[in-house]
Formats: sequence, structure tokens, C-alpha cells
Amino acid sequence: MATPIPPPNAASALPAASDDQQELFTALLDGSNQAILIHDRLEPLYANRRFARLLGFESPEEVIALGWLDDLIPIQRLVRAFVIWSRVLESGQAVSLTEVRGFSRQGVEFYVDIHTRPIQWQGRTVIFSSLYDVTARARVKRELEGNYLRYRQLAESAHDVFWDMSADGRLTQVEGGDDLGHAFSLCLGDRWIDHIPLEARDDATVTAIEAALAAGRAFRSETIPFDLGPLGRRLIEMNGVPVRDEAERLIGFRGTFRDETGAEQARREGELQRNLAALGRVSGGVAHEINNLLQPILTYSRLAADRATNNRDREAMQTILASARQARDIVRTVLEFARPRSLGGLATIPDPIEVIDREIRILAAQAPEIRLTVSHTPDSNRAIFGGPGELGQVVANLLKNAFEAMDGPGTVTVTTAAHADGKALELCIADTGPGMTETVRARVFEPFFTTKEFGKGTGLGLSIVYGVVRRWGGTIQCVSFPGSGTRFTLILPYVTALSPPEGEKPPA
Ligand code: ADP
Ligand code: MG
Repeated sequence: MATPIPPPNAASALPAASDDQQELFTALLDGSNQAILIHDRLEPLYANRRFARLLGFESPEEVIALGWLDDLIPIQRLVRAFVIWSRVLESGQAVSLTEVRGFSRQGVEFYVDIHTRPIQWQGRTVIFSSLYDVTARARVKRELEGNYLRYRQLAESAHDVFWDMSADGRLTQVEGGDDLGHAFSLCLGDRWIDHIPLEARDDATVTAIEAALAAGRAFRSETIPFDLGPLGRRLIEMNGVPVRDEAERLIGFRGTFRDETGAEQARREGELQRNLAALGRVSGGVAHEINNLLQPILTYSRLAADRATNNRDREAMQTILASARQARDIVRTVLEFARPRSLGGLATIPDPIEVIDREIRILAAQAPEIRLTVSHTPDSNRAIFGGPGELGQVVANLLKNAFEAMDGPGTVTVTTAAHADGKALELCIADTGPGMTETVRARVFEPFFTTKEFGKGTGLGLSIVYGVVRRWGGTIQCVSFPGSGTRFTLILPYVTALSPPEGEKPPA
């Protein structure tokens, strides 16, 4: 390969020297893997082939022929470049810049590390710039940064919390997830298991995670309860993978927390509704049959009581009659429960407080050792949907459960007030009993769910209460923790809250 020796008068000529020396310098500089430019600020004096190629020129001579470098440097950079070169020349010190972005004449983007130092050349101080092409490296880096940014943005847009944990199960980092992320950030440094309620620590889902952590395996959990300071108890889906160092040693775990509280509640609610509907169909049929059988019992026991010739017979008949009436009431409830009427056809209770108080008086007499405190906030005394008998039954069921749970002295507090939105009556029944575990609490409204011994509980009380309250357009909520009692809160819509359809409104 013949290296053209620049003519001595060409602008790209090297300093005057022997032809041998000149050929050697040209060969060295042209063979260099760096792009080299010798210049006096904006005036190009020498360029090697690599420099010419980097900037999209055919030959170094074309670069020199430009006369000025300002076409090669984006206008925004020009001033800065000028300042740097002046500093190099004045201070005599080298300056290095890394990953400077540039474009060739054809618009091809490149990245270079630039090393700039002053040299003596043809009797004056000029600048020797060597440019090392780092385009490939810079691209990979930018791609990585882009990916990182992408994941960050995904992380920020997701509702999940991204966590890191040490090998011994302590949270070392949490990110993302707004309120949930904030709540978890307050747990930093704690072991995750310390935020699982005591009674849930033996649950299969929790022990499965512990086993995966101990074995250094990835895991994907179903929802588990977490106690999260300001957010209280949440149902969290926890996923994680092991993190290892270069020597494949386990150094921790990384994964996500997802708040499934709402979804889980909706799922349970849906399941409950389906269960209740199924129960309704079955019990409706049974109740109908029993109702038919009860009619003659009621009729003839009343007749027999009237005709009894002695007190013993009369009392016996009256006992039968009373039991049959009670059975009829229960059957009626089941029938009501089985065939919900539409809201429009619902009965109303003009004075719910009176009904509640009456029920409390009846039940209080049965449990003298229990302290009952009752308080009504006056505004709550307005008509609600429902039948008075049903409301009595709802209150009776809740009070009975409270009495049975306490099994001895204790306090039951009944309060009524207008709900915060002013559109419903809020009825609270709270007891100082033993409370419930999360597992029990989650199932209380399920038909036939009972923790009581055979013959004592049917597990129907609360599912009937639930069905009745829902049919009135109301809601019922249960808050309970082991050792801190139980509180049922019922929101029962006022009749006035249901505005009549447009056009049917009475004139104001
Ligand atoms: P039952 O009373 O026949 O068992 P319920 O539907 O009335 O059926 O109640 C279901 C379960 O809910 C009860 O067995 C009990 O475990 C729990 N429960 C209900 N109310 C309370 C309460 N006030 N305190 C503690 N546990 C309660
Ligand atoms: Mg009960």
C-alpha cells in the first residue's frame, strides 16, 4: 500500500523534517486507531485519515481545505469548544472530554472521547486533539439507560411496590406504589414476617413464602394480610426472586408487593352473594314446605289450648303454639330472604330507633350480667327501608352473637347516628368480647359458617342479617381483632335518600 506523501507545501504537511521522518509520522498517524486533528483553535492544520472518515470526508486534504472547523462543530458547542481550546493553549494543560456526541457530514451520529493537549508545531503552540471513537460503547450505555428509564417509568406507573430484601428477610429498599410504597417504606429494616399478623403466620401461603426464602427459590403468593401502620391491615400479593452475587451466593431477594385488598374483598363479596343466592333457592323450597306443615299445627294447637279443660293441658298447648309461632317467624324470614323483593316494593320503618330499643330491652332481660350502653344521636330518628320484624331480627342476631361471644360479664355498646353523608342511618353494635381471628372474620357472613359447638350455632344468623341489610340497599361491615372485641357497623339508607325519578319530584 503506497502512502501518499503530502507535498511539502500542502496545508496537511507535517513539520519540516527528513523525508524518512515525514513518512514515518504519516504512517503512524494514519495507522492510528484514533482520529487525530492538529489545529489552532478553529483552523485545521493536520488531520489523519481516521479523522476524515469519522467526519465523512473522502480524505484528510478535504478537511484541511475547509479552512475553518466551524462547519464540523454544532453551533451550540462552538463557544464551549473555543473556551476549552483557549484554556488548553493558555494553561498548557491537557483536557479530556468523554462521550462527546457528534455528527458526520452525512448526519451519522458518533460518540468520541476527546483528549486535547498543546504541542509545539511549526514554531507555534497549537492543539493536538485525538478522538477515540466510543460510539458502540455509548450506544450500549444509552440503551441501558433507556431500558432503566423504561423500567423506572413502568415502576412508577404501576401500583406495585418494588422491594429488596436481605437474605435474612429484612426490607432494604422499597420503591413505587404511592401510598402503599410509603407504608412499606416505614417498614424498612424490619423483617417482612414481623408485619404479618400473628394469627396468619401459620397459614399455608405464609409458610410457603418462608420455605421459598429459606431455600433461595422464587415465589409467587396468594394474598396474605400485612399490618401496614397508616394503612392498617391490607391483603398483599407478594412475589419475589432470589438475588445472587457473582459467586452464585444468595445475597437477598427482590420482588413486588401488590395491594389486592379491594379485589379480594370484591371476590369474597361475589362469592358470598352467589352462596346466598344458592342458599336462598334451597331454603326457599324447604321453608315453603315447612310453612304448609305449620299451618295445621298453629290452627289446632290454638283450638286445643282454647278447649283445654285443665291448666296443665292449656299450658302444654300454649307452649306448642308459641314454638310453632316462633318457627313460623323463622320460616317467614327464610322465605323473605329467599325471594328478595325489589327496592321499590319494600316496606319502610318510620321509627327505626323505637324498634331497635324494643329489641334491646327484650334481649337485655335475658343477659343481666352484661352492661348495655345505648346512645342515639337525635337526627338518626328517620324512616329507613325494611320491615320492623326484620330490623328486630337483625338487632337480635347481632346482640345474641355479642352475648354468646362474651359468655359472661362485658359491655355491649349500641349507637345510632346519621351516616356521614346524611343519607342513611348508621347503627353500630360493638362488644368487648374476645374478637375474631382474620380467618373467622373473613367468613362470618357465609351461610352455615359457625365456630360454635353442634346444637348451639347454625351459622345462619349473620348470613340472614347480611341478606336482609343488602336487600334494603344497606351495607354491613365487621371490624374485629383477637382480644379487642368486635364491632358491626350497618349503614341503612333513609327512605328520603332515594330520590324519586326525574319529573316525578314533588313541587318544592
Ligand atoms: P352462629 O351464631 O350460629 O354461629 P352467625 O352467623 O351468627 O352464626 O355467626 C357466625 C360466626 O361468627 C360465629 O360462630 C362466631 O364465630 C362469629 N361471630 C359472630 N359475631 C361475633 C362476635 N360478636 N364476637 C365474636 N365472634 C362472632
Ligand atoms: Mg349467631
